[in-house]
Amino acid sequence: MPHGLLTIDCGAVVRNWRRLCEIHASGAVAAVLKADAYGLGAAPIARALRDAGCRHFFVATVEEGEALRAILGEGPMVAVLGGFPAGKHPGLTPVLNSLDDIKAHSGPAILHVDSGMARLGLSAGELEKLAEDPTPLEGIELLFVMTHLAVAEDPQHPLNLAQLNRFNEACLRLPRARRSIANSSGIFLGPRFGSELARPGAALYGINPTPGRPNPMEQVFTLSGQVLQRREIAAGQTVGYGGTWLATRPSRIATIGIGYADGLPRALEGRLKGRYRGQEFPLVGRVSMDLMTFDVTGIKGLKPGRWIEIIGPHQDADSLAAMAGTIGYELLTSLGRRFRRDYLPA
Ligand SMILES: *Cc1c(COP(=O)(O)O)cnc(C)c1O
Repeated sequence: MPHGLLTIDCGAVVRNWRRLCEIHASGAVAAVLKADAYGLGAAPIARALRDAGCRHFFVATVEEGEALRAILGEGPMVAVLGGFPAGKHPGLTPVLNSLDDIKAHSGPAILHVDSGMARLGLSAGELEKLAEDPTPLEGIELLFVMTHLAVAEDPQHPLNLAQLNRFNEACLRLPRARRSIANSSGIFLGPRFGSELARPGAALYGINPTPGRPNPMEQVFTLSGQVLQRREIAAGQTVGYGGTWLATRPSRIATIGIGYADGLPRALEGRLKGRYRGQEFPLVGRVSMDLMTFDVTGIKGLKPGRWIEIIGPHQDADSLAAMAGTIGYELLTSLGRRFRRDYLPA
């Protein structure tokens, strides 16, 4: 029996998707489900989004794509963002990132133009060549031409408009095709960044696409750890590795079976709060590999077997990530493989 429980509300994911559809009025909204839907579990989330009407899905690898196609059945587009190896992968739509990719493929595809991310996508030089000699595109059915924004979470950053301008110029040099621009944060940059297809990931899962402003998305999951033991310690005793936390009064310590091996960073020491039936209390001592300890002095009813909430209404994934000096994306995708994942249906 796992000691960590992730409860994922597929209905909340669907509501987040619908909200993004309302905001992205210029076109459709895809769902990015790479890395197993950012660690939350691609299968139930993909089914819920498909049933809600989502027709376009993106993943990172062919393996993820094949798994997703098996889940979704025929119909929706399943596009592979990075490194589509030559060869037949029926049912998957390649994202072509270079002139060599274009030459190696035929049939329906998405063309990725690099407008300033300098990571994947056609370079300015390759675009130039293609404009001079478009024959490599002859066998290709261009479903979309896409680009990816580097700093969309910072609306003031000049790179956003620079990328948009570069992309618009690139599109003028390519055959007419529908366009795909915004990720989660890009959807909130306003109608200029609208296109025929937005590609949000993080916002679907409740990560704030507008950092520094109120989160427009609904939280979609909670994480709880089961209490393995509870003990009374005397004033003057320390807790955990390094003896970093000292009890200044007689204290009650509850130990849960979640640790850094489950993706809870050691940097949460001294910051994280646990919650039980509306009562909050601090994490004390170091985060161990499989264990964390809380000062539950005066907290009623918290016996072994009960569950302490770590991520939930009192503390979302973004705030937890900030405590550890990282971002919600990294926190989510690091969440443990050994958690039980329960899904609330849409
Ligand atoms: C991951 C990714 C997305 C989704 O980004 P979010 O910030 O999670 O919305 C969209 N497009 C590309 C190319 C990506 O790699």
